Amino acid sequence: MRDLQGTHPDRSRRLRPVSGVDADRRRESFRPRAVLLRAAVERPRDRGARSAPRRRHPDPAPALPHRVDVAIVKVKLPANERLQFLAGQYIDLLLKDGHRRSFSLATPPHADELLELHIRHITGGFFTDPLFTTYKGREILRFEGPLGTFYLREDSDKPIIFVAGGTGFAPIKAIIEHALYHKLPRPMVLYWGARAKADLYQPDVAAEWQRANPEHFTFIPVLSEPAPSDQWSGRKGFVHQAVLDDFDDLSGYQVYACGGPAMIDIARRDFTTRKRLPSDEFFADSFTYAAEAEARK
Ligand SMILES: Cc1cc2nc3c(=O)[nH]c(=O)nc-3n(C[C@H](O)[C@H](O)[C@H](O)COP(=O)(O)OP(=O)(O)OC[C@H]3O[C@@H](n4cnc5c(N)ncnc54)[C@H](O)[C@@H]3O)c2cc1C
Repeated sequence: MRDLQGTHPDRSRRLRPVSGVDADRRRESFRPRAVLLRAAVERPRDRGARSAPRRRHPDPAPALPHRVDVAIVKVKLPANERLQFLAGQYIDLLLKDGHRRSFSLATPPHADELLELHIRHITGGFFTDPLFTTYKGREILRFEGPLGTFYLREDSDKPIIFVAGGTGFAPIKAIIEHALYHKLPRPMVLYWGARAKADLYQPDVAAEWQRANPEHFTFIPVLSEPAPSDQWSGRKGFVHQAVLDDFDDLSGYQVYACGGPAMIDIARRDFTTRKRLPSDEFFADSFTYAAEAEARK
């Protein structure tokens, strides 16, 4: 079992408030509002290949390299506009015909010149398909936010386990950058789960956190279906299972999880029932699918 407490030299110190977000600002930050934004899509390093079709059986033909389908979208607010938000919150993009789509802010409040969104391509998706196929690079959009209660509880000094699935990395990146910027003295470990290596679309970012903060930050990438060309010798399987494998007792931890609904549900269930995580120490943003909610209306 990995004992995060044990890796931290300063664990007995009580945490002081570090965010600079006082109660009034906190209240204000939850008031929905609409502003204009300009978004410039910047695809991550193109690994020069088309998406490999999923195969049921091993194929003797050489597998096509897997292509990451995540866009890093930079959002620029109108001059003199600032968005007050808490690291980890999300915004709703307001689209035509009353549709809205939620995306987490990947930037922390102290770096708010350009807000960053990590958007995964959903083939046929109402918003993301045109974003990846016909988008011209600059566009005026409206959004509402900040929204949500996925943010760091700074009144706790418990060590933190972050569990990210795919683009669930986005709000967790914001929280970790916020914590490191404010020199938060809490041990942190990030488990980032993805299918293949290319889906860990910003591995260098997480690796650099660990390099710069070896005392209290650990990065553990976990792949569920590494490609042969990945030559992966790291952790394999489902990301929540990696946490279950590493920890016998989560009763002294906080967990922040973000990703698809299935991962969130199973992580919440298994961490609380099998590893004694208090249920009120599990914080999550579940990337539920707007199209399904709209269809139910
Ligand atoms: C609070 C919150 C924060 C979110 N943050 C992010 C984020 O930071 N980055 C990000 O990439 N996504 C995020 N999502 C998910 C994102 O909003 C949806 O994936 C979005 O609906 C996709 O938009 P679309 O219009 O392209 O697809 P839609 O038209 O909404 O969906 C088309 C079809 O694809 C299915 N589908 C939609 N999304 C997914 C998915 N993720 N996986 C599998 N099937 C899907 C739908 O069920 C539907 O059948 C977040 C969701 C929530 C609720």
